[in-house]
Amino acid sequence: MTTLEMVRRRAELDAKANGYFLNPDSEFLENILEGLRVNEERFGYPACPCRIAVGSFELDRDIICPCDYRDPDVQDYGACYCCLYVDSATYEKGEIHPIPERRLPEKALKVFSSIEEEEKKSQLMAGVVEDARIGRILFYCRQCGYVVFREEPPYICPICRAKREMFSEIGPLLETGGT
Ligand code: SF4
Repeated sequence: MTTLEMVRRRAELDAKANGYFLNPDSEFLENILEGLRVNEERFGYPACPCRIAVGSFELDRDIICPCDYRDPDVQDYGACYCCLYVDSATYEKGEIHPIPERRLPEKALKVFSSIEEEEKKSQLMAGVVEDARIGRILFYCRQCGYVVFREEPPYICPICRAKREMFSEIGPLLETGGT
């Protein structure tokens, strides 16, 4: 079982080894670490809590923390996409601005279609031919309006960095009538 302390210790060591710092906002930090912990329990590896992982090592490899994008993001923006790792200037100022997604959209699309495929396959196997999105919920960030379609709200808003508590449900996706 992965504990929060194990995840924290690993992140601290990694930050130290690379000359980075962990986000100085302790509550924010706790949320990100908890997201990593949950993903590690779920997938067997700490997939980035700010992105959608599919549970396939091959497809998720680039977003296993620390992800392939961390170093260039810290270099260019002073923080990684989730704002877990920050540079010394950002750590001191405690001010973080939105960081654009560096992961190629083609990669994310591949991940999305893989999720849809897997869900469709399992539903077909169960004898249920339905829209693969049924059962997921539309959430929106009350701080910036970002909308996301997931089983549960993200730990951190990828746009404005609001915490999970800032997400509200728009509602579950109901049957689409064959569209
Ligand atoms: S964005 Fe940050 S928290 Fe997310 S995987 Fe990359 S390094 Fe880890």
